[in-house]
Amino acid sequence: MPTITLVPGDGIGPEVASATRRVVDALGTGIEWEVHDAGIPAIETHGTPLPPHVLDSIRTNKVALKGPVTTPVGTGFRSINVALRQELDLFASVRPCRLYPGVPSRFADIDLIVVRENTEDLYEGIEFECGSKELEKLRGYLKYMHGYGTPRDTGISVKPISVSATRAIVEYAFELAKKHRRRKVTLGHKANIMKFSDGVWLETGLQRAEEYRDVGFDAIQVDELAMWLVWHPDDLDVIVLPNLYGDIISDLCAGLIGGLGVAPGMNLGKDYAVFEPTHGSAPDIAGKGLANPIAMILSAVLMLRHLDLSPAARRLEDAVAAVLAAGPRPADLKPDGPPATTAEIAGAIVARLGG
Ligand code: NAD
Repeated sequence: MPTITLVPGDGIGPEVASATRRVVDALGTGIEWEVHDAGIPAIETHGTPLPPHVLDSIRTNKVALKGPVTTPVGTGFRSINVALRQELDLFASVRPCRLYPGVPSRFADIDLIVVRENTEDLYEGIEFECGSKELEKLRGYLKYMHGYGTPRDTGISVKPISVSATRAIVEYAFELAKKHRRRKVTLGHKANIMKFSDGVWLETGLQRAEEYRDVGFDAIQVDELAMWLVWHPDDLDVIVLPNLYGDIISDLCAGLIGGLGVAPGMNLGKDYAVFEPTHGSAPDIAGKGLANPIAMILSAVLMLRHLDLSPAARRLEDAVAAVLAAGPRPADLKPDGPPATTAEIAGAIVARLGG
């Protein structure tokens, strides 16, 4: 049986990771876990949020299940998530958004998949701090070479989008649509404004679409896409987006299916796969036993499918669906009575697993 790298993370991470480990262990698949700290606990013990042995473990085991980790805003270390995705070349972030019966939502039926490019765009980390020497040089260059006048009190983040990364992710989205017999792929962009970054994205996407004529395709500006998603989400199916829009739109889609507490995700590359919920470390509820573990448990369902353990994946997903339909409910899913704790939700899912 496979050994999986388990990174509980910080904030609510350890709570939802322990609930997830409990339900996966109850399936009896014999998965072994190699547990490693990342984020705040790793800074305390190893002096760095992403110790090299965590990456080594994922490289050896090929598959990881990860809880959320905190990224301080503005200062401090760069995002561990971004570093992981770049180090392991996890070029695709895939976030299926399915509405399960019983989950409160404005809609009756939602079944979308958001495919997000995971390695470049504004997340690549090419940034120039306001007031820095580097930024002064860049301002000088932009003025001298191109006549652009940027005010002295500006900070600059660079948005690189390449033909090769776009090709890879659009191709991935089409292959996924074919494999799962989905109706169409919708590509979101803002090429009317960012002609040389989103322009590359749109042009490359249109070229790839030509080779997948058996799958429906449309390209739409990302602002209009946001409008359609909250108006007629049933008009959409697989959505492919560059990194930043993908981040925003996948949270929007999580809102359509009951919120971050039920939104799973995975980061895939050619060699490695890291499964993690869409949500963050939720410091506002950490340590209170209130976190909904279902997003991470559904991420484990995706992991089991990736490991070719489909019968176990189905058993676990059915048990989650049964609990979502009949209760108990955690705080974020607005129960009528007192909310169930993280551990009680895990216990209810284990009880529904059946033989
Ligand atoms: P968040 O997702 O942590 O929280 C947003 C809101 O959703 C909060 O009100 C929170 O209580 C609620 N929420 C999130 N997950 C929940 C769950 N499982 N059950 C119940 N309620 C839940 O987003 P944020 O507050 O913007 O970010 C907090 C930290 O997490 C930041 O440092 C951010 O950078 C980090 N983050 C990490 C990841 C990751 O590790 N993959 C992803 C997103 C954000």
